[in-house]
Amino acid sequence: MVTLAQWRGGSLTVSAKANCLTLSLQSSGETAVFSFDGAGRLWTAMRGGNSYRRGLDGKIVAKWQTPQAGRGRRWLAPAESVELIGHACAMAAALLEDVLAGALPLDPPLDAPALDSLKAAAAFTPARAQADVEAYHGVYRPVGILPPDQYMAVVLQAAEGCSFNTCTFCTFYKDRRFRIKTPAEFRAHAAAVKDYLAGGLSLRRTIFLGDANALVIPTPRLLPLLEITHELFDVAKLGGIYAFLDGFSGEKKTQADYAALARLGLRRVYIGLESGHDPLLRFLKKPGKAEDAVQAVRAMKAAGVAVGIIVLSGAGGKQFARAHTADTIAVLNRMELDADDLLYFSELVETEGLEYSRDAYAAALQPLSEAERIAQGEEIERALRFDEERGVPHISRYDIREFVY
Ligand code: SF4
Repeated sequence: MVTLAQWRGGSLTVSAKANCLTLSLQSSGETAVFSFDGAGRLWTAMRGGNSYRRGLDGKIVAKWQTPQAGRGRRWLAPAESVELIGHACAMAAALLEDVLAGALPLDPPLDAPALDSLKAAAAFTPARAQADVEAYHGVYRPVGILPPDQYMAVVLQAAEGCSFNTCTFCTFYKDRRFRIKTPAEFRAHAAAVKDYLAGGLSLRRTIFLGDANALVIPTPRLLPLLEITHELFDVAKLGGIYAFLDGFSGEKKTQADYAALARLGLRRVYIGLESGHDPLLRFLKKPGKAEDAVQAVRAMKAAGVAVGIIVLSGAGGKQFARAHTADTIAVLNRMELDADDLLYFSELVETEGLEYSRDAYAAALQPLSEAERIAQGEEIERALRFDEERGVPHISRYDIREFVY
């Protein structure tokens, strides 16, 4: 339901949906918008020309766009996060007070679920938000990364960490050893996630099996974990199950394995191909060969599972650029991607102390500029060929610096 009113000298819009509540107040040319999940957690905001997204882990990223400088982003300092949450909660609390006092006749009036959502938002004070973050950390090991279309998933950590942890450009799981949860552990974890999300579950769109490469779990051990997922969650209603398969070595899943997983709701597998050029994969210390990824994609697609392929643009700098581009085009074209699939271009992000940066320096690699990295992705994209009848995959950029869960 959507309710409009004049309130505190401005135009108020209250949008109450089954999965979230949005309050928007426009006054003196300024618009402030706050959205809350069903448990009252601040989820997104807009204020002063910036948009904000708050993760369950409490981190808030601010994003903006200007004609001069283009897109910008930064993570809020703790005090700024407290201020933003306090502002959102105070607005919800003031509105609730006026509604309950009958001082703000709304037409139509808020129904009972909308009023409950407003009460939950009003109760999500900075102190409550801090307690919620602590509860989050009681349920999850830090969620390293997700594909951009999975930021609103319910993450279930079937495994922790990465079974390889060798790639020089990746620091997501260096702090933990890879391990697969037992069925009992996974059941307890998934139940704790469900309890933790509570009313916020309705905002979540899919189930993502973590961490880095849950599909490396041998099929006989993975199937029971999917069955537990079905016991605790309405998988179909949530839009199915998604996971990474990253790095290739050891036992490989067959088409029959993927078909069995698809029957239990597996919809799409995300593969960090990075490059079609094997010497570059070796330089990156990425396990496996590009051909392994082609074979895995074919097995998945034959079993009715879609794929999301991630290419690392800028990897290997200028020295690898030609071969990286040419071989990646060739490999992607051999994958025969279609309209069910996704293709992401993720730009190499170098940070101080990154093993990749040390190796690149030792090899005297010249880095690509940001514009050149983007151009490399665009050159690969232009050379891709798709079957007209099966359609074109959705292709977009993947900026790991904007990841939020
Ligand atoms: S396989 Fe994936 S998650 Fe593991 S180290 Fe390499 S890039 Fe990181």
